[in-house]
Amino acid sequence: MLLDTLTLRVALAVVDVTLLLLFYFITYRRTRSAYSGWWSSALLLFFVGNAAYLLDGTVYQVWANPFGNVALVGGAASVWAGARSLRAPVPKAWQLAVGPAITAVASVLDNPATNIWSGGPAYLFFMGALIGLGCRELLVLDRDYSRVHRVLALSAGVLSLFYIGRVIAFLADGPEGPVFLAVFGSVPTTLLSTLLLVMASFAMTDLSHEQQTQDLRARATVDGLTGLLNRTAFVSLAEDELRRLKWTRTSSSLILADLDHFKSINDEFGHAAGDTALQAFAAACTSVVRSTDLVGRYGGEEFIILLPGVTPETASGIAADISRRMMMDKSGVIPRLPTVSYGIAAVPAGRVDLQELVTSADEALYRAKSLGRNRSVLATSLEDKSA
Ligand code: GH3
Ligand code: MG
Ligand code: MG
Repeated sequence: MLLDTLTLRVALAVVDVTLLLLFYFITYRRTRSAYSGWWSSALLLFFVGNAAYLLDGTVYQVWANPFGNVALVGGAASVWAGARSLRAPVPKAWQLAVGPAITAVASVLDNPATNIWSGGPAYLFFMGALIGLGCRELLVLDRDYSRVHRVLALSAGVLSLFYIGRVIAFLADGPEGPVFLAVFGSVPTTLLSTLLLVMASFAMTDLSHEQQTQDLRARATVDGLTGLLNRTAFVSLAEDELRRLKWTRTSSSLILADLDHFKSINDEFGHAAGDTALQAFAAACTSVVRSTDLVGRYGGEEFIILLPGVTPETASGIAADISRRMMMDKSGVIPRLPTVSYGIAAVPAGRVDLQELVTSADEALYRAKSLGRNRSVLATSLEDKSA
């Protein structure tokens, strides 16, 4: 049985456009994830590129052949951008444009009217290189990112190696050579591309959902204004941490902080200035505490900090450091920053009831307010210290 390239290309184009429609309308429109956007773009470019090759042998070949090369290399660049969007900002526009641009120049200069392999080495090389970069991005993803990213990395790896093999055979053997025709010619390439497109689209749906879920999860745990944990996330993480501390019999401290006369900042300078003060306090907190401490926005202008392994006395010093750091904020966006009052509860080893600790820190905070604000008060010893 002889498989002819034209029939296979038509079949690939039909598969490609079907996947594109399904993927665009079902996955991209629903998740709007960056990844599914890039994959839709890759499918579209693969379709356009393969369709352009159908014009080989006609008078249109002179532009259709280079155009097909550029579209396919553009599709490979989209695969790279999509894979990268799963863990980092996508490559810059010029980085994505390098492969298609060089391929365009190489193809146009290589007799495209008569040569169906115009710009062949550049086209094959960039297909291999860009899909290889996509494979690399998938390999360095967190191992439990999704069930499918390893499968996808494998598909991309196989395709990348296949294209590298093609470029080597092309240069050594020429496009009419026996090795190139038998192993790396249009028939095996089209078959492999069809198979991998279907596999990748299937995996891609799963990854798009994962990306959307992670995005929603991040938005559900982080306070939008300050970037600190929100109340729900803090409570959940602090309860886990307290359970862990119970096992290791480590004592720690819980701080509840409240900005003083914050309402007057809003009243005098406006709500935006109030927001800036909240951000300044949050920034001071994160720069003073360790990365293993938990800091959350508990409500309006109230913040909560869990310091594992820290005594209440040390916690009081940390509170003073936070206030000092905030006052050092030289951004000058608002004329005056508020002072802060702190209530500090000691968390004895073995205690796990977070709510009880918050109540105790809140009572101390209330005392700090009534004693004149701008200070911290320890809940257990009723000790009063100026912050
Ligand atoms: P005290 O020293 O007793 O804590 O006085 P206070 O003015 O800080 O406390 P009060 O509870 O009277 O006012 C808190 C104010 O915080 C009222 C509310 O409008 C403001 N607030 C809460 N959330 C935000 C926010 O996200 N942005 C801004 N700008 N203001 C907020
Ligand atoms: Mg206040
Ligand atoms: Mg308050």
